[in-house]
Amino acid sequence: MTQPNPNIDIPVRAPAETSADDTVLPFEIGILELRGRVVRLGPAVNEILTGHNYPLPVATLLGEAVALTVLLGSALRIDGRFILQTQTDGPVRMLVVDFRSPGRVRACARFDATRVAGAIDAGTVSAGSLLGKGHLAMTIDQGTERSRYQGVVALSGGDLEEAAHEYFKRSEQIPTAVRLAVGEEMAPGGGRHWRAGGMLLQFLPKSPERARVPDLHPGDAPEGVVIPEVVEDDAWVEGRAMIGTVEDVELLDPALSSERLAYRLFHDRGVRVFKSLPIVAQCSCSREGVEAMLRNFSQGDRDHMVENGRISVTCEFCSANYQFAPEDVRTEPDQAPNDQKSVS
Ligand SMILES: [Zn+2]
Repeated sequence: MTQPNPNIDIPVRAPAETSADDTVLPFEIGILELRGRVVRLGPAVNEILTGHNYPLPVATLLGEAVALTVLLGSALRIDGRFILQTQTDGPVRMLVVDFRSPGRVRACARFDATRVAGAIDAGTVSAGSLLGKGHLAMTIDQGTERSRYQGVVALSGGDLEEAAHEYFKRSEQIPTAVRLAVGEEMAPGGGRHWRAGGMLLQFLPKSPERARVPDLHPGDAPEGVVIPEVVEDDAWVEGRAMIGTVEDVELLDPALSSERLAYRLFHDRGVRVFKSLPIVAQCSCSREGVEAMLRNFSQGDRDHMVENGRISVTCEFCSANYQFAPEDVRTEPDQAPNDQKSVS
């Protein structure tokens, strides 16, 4: 994460009353060495979630994953991708959210419709019960092999906020707190629109020893093992307490601007905001990309894909359908990619 440019927004001014939807607003509380971001998603998350038409609890969970991904991915300053993916044994087997800098996002879920319906009937639709146990992986890809990084955190019945806290504690040693909210609002003139919001707060002190946070108590530690007591830094305790007061409605209310929310929480300490970043729902699939993907399969695999004389590929993110005649994607032996030469 790079330092925000200190030359912007230095003059003190009142917080903006209007909040643009589909934006991320970075902010910092200099005196506490806290930095954070507020995300507001309206049309972007509505487009993603209505496009899929998933059952309500699956859509809500995916909306949370989108808000979290945008909060984390928007920290990338150069061209890159941030991919959040869960793989678990619950009714929702997989969530994938793909963020491309500076602000494009797409998302999809895989779930067991029968188990989701069962969870709805039983009223067990919390994020933790829908996900179940497994893991959450976050991949940062800045284009080259060397700059690909993946961090993994276990999911064991908790929600995405908890997973994010755990991830930053384990992998980055950055005290981090996240709030996420998703909801539907009645649109004027009928119909419903999805909204999502989130806030991320991180403690980034100049002296790294101040960033220590206590571990969870190791219940299975052998007797006699002394667990060192780590006292959290006061600045982080204060920041964590403040973000803990943020209610879902504050993250979703279009009438409460992101600046106003940051000000409401931290005005006693002085909060500085930076330029907000626009977010759009946009898939990155293309006919050329799908064609290249098909050409990478062996001829045998491609032959299996032919139905009614066509190869049909539907994008799982945006449902775009691409149709090819088998001869369009046939690779001549001398045109096949090097690693496929031996495949007949
Ligand atoms: Zn697509």
